[in-house]
Amino acid sequence: MKMSYNHPLCVFCEQHSETVREEHVMPECFGANPHTLPSGLVCDRCNQYFGNKIEKPIAERPYFLQQRFANRIEGKKGKIAPVTTLHLPSCVPCELIAHADGSVSIGARAERDELRLVQSIRTQSSGMLVAVADPQPPMALLGRLLGKIGIETLASCWRGVAEFDATQKLPEGLQPLRRHVRFGASPEVWPVHIRRLYPANQLFPTVDGTPEQVIHEWDLAYVEGGFLLIVVCILGVEYVLDMTNPSTEVYEEWLKRHGGVSPLYSQVGRFEL
Ligand SMILES: [Zn+2]
Repeated sequence: MKMSYNHPLCVFCEQHSETVREEHVMPECFGANPHTLPSGLVCDRCNQYFGNKIEKPIAERPYFLQQRFANRIEGKKGKIAPVTTLHLPSCVPCELIAHADGSVSIGARAERDELRLVQSIRTQSSGMLVAVADPQPPMALLGRLLGKIGIETLASCWRGVAEFDATQKLPEGLQPLRRHVRFGASPEVWPVHIRRLYPANQLFPTVDGTPEQVIHEWDLAYVEGGFLLIVVCILGVEYVLDMTNPSTEVYEEWLKRHGGVSPLYSQVGRFEL
């Protein structure tokens, strides 16, 4: 395919490429959102790679399935993903399904277990549903997701600048993260600092006074010495990745200096072009 001279370069594979698909900075499995990237910033091949290899495996981990179910977060097609549980005392693997009217139904995962489940519910005076405890998805996947969000946030800020050159590559200091996120280049794990900031179901007042739950929020933060952090909060859990250095030390030091306040709520380190 012949490309024009100044056809934009994909920020991840650095190849000239056309874009047909919409790329969301924050994957839609963490709540529908309008934050799509300008066309040409991420090519369709990279977009598809992130969807299949990073976003889907994270979204389908029990931790996020349970979080999405408990907070009724709809996925891409407006559906809430079911969660897997085990019914006791029948030991039947079940699925909990959320319906549009707010109700929840339960069914055996395998049709052959349906009768055993129904009989157990009818004959036992009490029962219990237990779910797999999965504290957080693997750090290796989280690091790549955070890196993707960070690079896309930075690149979309650039696009807002009038004299932006669409064929510009990421600066040298961010190349290791680009290769790690897109091609799995070393290190094996780009560590993420994780902590809870507020309960998942906490309500915050909006401008018009109506309380609202915050599903996700994110921003970039500069740290003295040339470090750049991507700070993401999903349902009250903060994930921070140092985009310039595969370590959490810089952020730990930052927290000590700023009394533990998240860069999301601090004016220090605000990212401006
Ligand atoms: Zn690409």
